[in-house]
Amino acid sequence: MTDAAQQTAKETQKPKSFSAKAFAAQSKTSPMAPHTVKRREPGPSDVQIEILFCGVCHSDLHQVRDAWSNFLPTVYPCVPGHEIIGRVVKAGSTVKKFKEGDIAGVGCMVDSDRTCPYCRAGEEMFCQSMATFTYNSPDKILGGVTYGGYTDNIVVDEAFVLRIDEKKNLAGAAPLLCAGITTYSPLRHWKVGKGQKWESSASAVSATWA
Ligand SMILES: [Zn+2]
Ligand SMILES: [Zn+2]
Repeated sequence: MTDAAQQTAKETQKPKSFSAKAFAAQSKTSPMAPHTVKRREPGPSDVQIEILFCGVCHSDLHQVRDAWSNFLPTVYPCVPGHEIIGRVVKAGSTVKKFKEGDIAGVGCMVDSDRTCPYCRAGEEMFCQSMATFTYNSPDKILGGVTYGGYTDNIVVDEAFVLRIDEKKNLAGAAPLLCAGITTYSPLRHWKVGKGQKWESSASAVSATWA
């Protein structure tokens, strides 16, 4: 096959996509500004979420400013945001957990290999192939990198989408998807109960960051 034919074959394997409005940084010194990104049309196990709220995590600032250039260099344009709450507007044919109109949440990960021992144990954040993070991770389906929640829509496999009670304060629920779980996870792991004191340390937080 010629290079051109191979390229065409690759293109036809890619799912159809649509445009989503976004806020992106074009470089490590530029401010966030309107931009457009491609989202895949939902596949059988995907949900398309119209984003209602997205928290601002300090990781977003690090990523936008390329502060992790030595281990997680930023690919520009960069669209951060991994504390996402929205409404399901489309659900693929095999989706079980969601239907149109449901409120859904997406945190720091949108995929993993799902086959390694960690994934099978439900600890995808430790995936041996490295989880696909919600932004600035290689996008296995569309190519390029993933784009986060500073957008009007996101498409995610239902396995990485959480159900959110729509009666809750949805704006307040968004930060639970990163900062909240980062705090709650060690408290639960170490069985911290009423009346006990817990000292936060950078190492404890980084050990559970996901
Ligand atoms: Zn975060
Ligand atoms: Zn894995």
